[in-house]
Amino acid sequence: MKKIIIAIDGYSSTGKSTVAKQLARALGYVYVDTGAMYRAVTLFAMRNNFIGKDFFQKEKLVESLKDIQLHFHFNAERGFAEMYLNGENVENEIRTMEVSNFVSQVAAVPEVRKKQVQQQHELGKEKGIVMDGRDIGTVVFPNAELKLFMTASAETRAQRRFEELQQKGEKVTYDEVLENVKSRDQIDTSRKDSPLIQATDAIVIDNSKMSLDEQFSKILQLAQQAIKNA
Ligand code: C5P
Repeated sequence: MKKIIIAIDGYSSTGKSTVAKQLARALGYVYVDTGAMYRAVTLFAMRNNFIGKDFFQKEKLVESLKDIQLHFHFNAERGFAEMYLNGENVENEIRTMEVSNFVSQVAAVPEVRKKQVQQQHELGKEKGIVMDGRDIGTVVFPNAELKLFMTASAETRAQRRFEELQQKGEKVTYDEVLENVKSRDQIDTSRKDSPLIQATDAIVIDNSKMSLDEQFSKILQLAQQAIKNA
């Protein structure tokens, strides 16, 4: 059967990665979480003191991009590929609130994007891929056979993310998470390079009032149809 590219874009914490993982598993496709790539670059920038509260030394980060190697390695126990930064598994560390607070500034730097997009093209060249992010259907794979654009109210998204972080034992308040979700939306939609916008041929999925099962069966159907049409 013909393999296709499925691009899933949308706002922060809309459950893109949950549905992308489910879909990849059901279709036997590879799942690529591009947000993890921007998060890993952010972690590198934080560790090297290129970014922090009130400062961002962009030029230093850009100069050091050559020293950043990212790769995904499948973890069979968890059922998805984890992110490695220069050979170190950083899958858990990149999900903290601290990384979330800086990632959109890092992701707005054109040189950072250029490097990540090159790697994303490489990862998708054989097709059979579900890739989620902000610019997948518009910039990375504008010819993807299926494009989804996920959305939900900021409050719904913040509540979900808050519960997730609490379960991981992170000390955050709902208000902090809501503020982070809104601020990332703002930076992601207004940046000059590859802003988050809905591709004209994307199918919008508003999951504010959808259960995970309902969402998955709807999206699986769309994917099967797209594969048939390919
Ligand atoms: O998907 P996730 O929320 O983990 O992404 C973290 C951040 O990385 C986003 O808020 C956005 O700033 C950036 N990002 C991006 N382009 C992508 C994926 C993520 O700019 N394709």
